Amino acid sequence: MHGLTAQAESYRFAPPTHLRPLSPEYDPWDPIRSLKQFGRHTLTSVEFTVTNLCNMRCEHCAVGDSLSMTEAPHLPIDLILRKLDEVEHLETISLTGGEPTFREETIDRIMLPLLKYARSRGIRSQLNSNVTLDYSRYERIAPYLDVMHISFNYTEANDFHTVGFAHTARPVGRAAAERLYERMMDNTRRLSSEGLFVSAESMINFRTYNKISEIHRLIVEMGCKRHEVHPMYPSSFASELPVLSRNQMREAIEDLLDHRDPSVWMLFGTLPFFACGEDPKERELFLRLLNERNVTVRNDPDGRNRVNVNLFSGDVYVTDFASIPPFGNVKKEKLDDVFAKWQAHPMQGRVNCHCPSASCCGPNLLVSDMYFKDVDFTRRQALI
Ligand code: SF4
Repeated sequence: MHGLTAQAESYRFAPPTHLRPLSPEYDPWDPIRSLKQFGRHTLTSVEFTVTNLCNMRCEHCAVGDSLSMTEAPHLPIDLILRKLDEVEHLETISLTGGEPTFREETIDRIMLPLLKYARSRGIRSQLNSNVTLDYSRYERIAPYLDVMHISFNYTEANDFHTVGFAHTARPVGRAAAERLYERMMDNTRRLSSEGLFVSAESMINFRTYNKISEIHRLIVEMGCKRHEVHPMYPSSFASELPVLSRNQMREAIEDLLDHRDPSVWMLFGTLPFFACGEDPKERELFLRLLNERNVTVRNDPDGRNRVNVNLFSGDVYVTDFASIPPFGNVKKEKLDDVFAKWQAHPMQGRVNCHCPSASCCGPNLLVSDMYFKDVDFTRRQALI
């Protein structure tokens, strides 16, 4: 009896059995699915910025410039739920920050109502968190959540100390950082062991590219179900950091593929490698990624099947990176209508290509700006 109780307890965060398990074959965040289903990009995903507060200030933070020490009241939750009701083909929501769990009030008044709403409609949910705060916060959210998405770019506490507090107003001591690092790892292990799908994201940048396999090993050890890997792009705090060449990026990914644990799902995103690429080595890597077991390359959701809503101003963005101005407001417009405006925008037109043979629907704008300034993707085609 004791064993049975322990087993039921240990999986208390597993999703309800009537929901299709997330897997390399089923990733509802990938915009290629709705593109295939509807024949055009369609809004299926809404991301909410639920806070601009955070206990960390990472050197690469893509929203670092919007972080603050205080914040205004949220929009009424009823308005937000009404706006979600109106989205005809909604499949996923994501909650992001800052650190979304920074204030208990945000958990109670915004996050739990949103997650319970999503569960009741069978909509899948993701929370982007640094999981460095008390376990009790994550424990309250986990029963209603599909994916806990964390950042993990470290091989030891020293890395975490250097990277995680690079932009704090006052220096953070080594011992304090180490305590947070240990808590982050403990929280991840506990959430995983209790059945929650934890997806750890690493970025490939000048600090991580030569130790990405070691980072992967720690992520597997913590019990994460997925390792998500993206190159770092020069947005916000990251804009002053050194940039890797495409060769360095390719070699880091090859090394990771050679040394990964093949039982763990690896999800790559925002890669600068395409089936239409001129470099045969890059096309070879693209093919390898397509053919490896438990490896997927997700097309970027931003502006393809997703918008970001700021829960303070109501502004709607194509991404939570602030570099592109808002193109609508949820207080006055339907999200489907705002999304339609973006689809007609010349910036979206620049990268709006689709090659069914490669299951690819083009680069996102950061990738195109960083590596392909002079390339017109609408004139290219997959070569494989
Ligand atoms: S969809 Fe665009 S980026 Fe992808 S292979 Fe085709 S032309 Fe290249």
